[in-house]
Amino acid sequence: MTAVPPRPALQKNHPLVVHRAALVECRRCPNVIPPVVTGRAVATELFFIGQAPGVHEGAIGQPFAWTAGKTLFRWFATIGVSEATFRERVYMTAVIRCFPGKASKGGGDRVPSRAEIDECAAWMREEVRIVRPKLVLAIGRLAIERVAGRKLAKLDEVVGPLQHVEFFGAPVDWIAFPHPSGLSSWHKSEPGKKLLGDALATLAAHPSFARTFGDAR
Ligand code: SF4
Repeated sequence: MTAVPPRPALQKNHPLVVHRAALVECRRCPNVIPPVVTGRAVATELFFIGQAPGVHEGAIGQPFAWTAGKTLFRWFATIGVSEATFRERVYMTAVIRCFPGKASKGGGDRVPSRAEIDECAAWMREEVRIVRPKLVLAIGRLAIERVAGRKLAKLDEVVGPLQHVEFFGAPVDWIAFPHPSGLSSWHKSEPGKKLLGDALATLAAHPSFARTFGDAR
């Protein structure tokens, strides 16, 4: 990985900057815990979808800023992309952008409700319209179901290969990844381990990857 100078920030009147400023003020869902957590306003062809921020991300002010993020960025480091470069060059979104709170049982976070997912999808629809992504990375079951437009029986069905879909009206390539949460062991044992490796190889071989990171590797 080579250190490259950061790209200049977008102008204040760029549609993505205007969109992000409105998004961070959103308080539509009564049962989530603000603040809104979302990535930088980046004009790019790579669009990333996580599930929801965890308890720490709001205070830090960026997605995947805690333990799951460490694992996630370790994965991307194996294909030559540092966390700083990824955050700078990829538009990072999530199925919902506010911490849903802890689940009443099991120690994990509450799964967002259908109403919250649908409410937050309006923001994502607008982002897809502005960014016009070529390649979408869906991280974890909720994000995968958002992109695939269907319920998943098993992660094994989708993680790894390059797929194509009409996403909010835009034809995109997409790749499914497991969620890097410490609560999931799927990616640590077979067939998850191999399928995660396949997904990273698929990403590294995609033309959007070279165009986005070519000078930083
Ligand atoms: S989860 Fe999304 S729609 Fe709901 S309040 Fe947060 S930003 Fe708004």
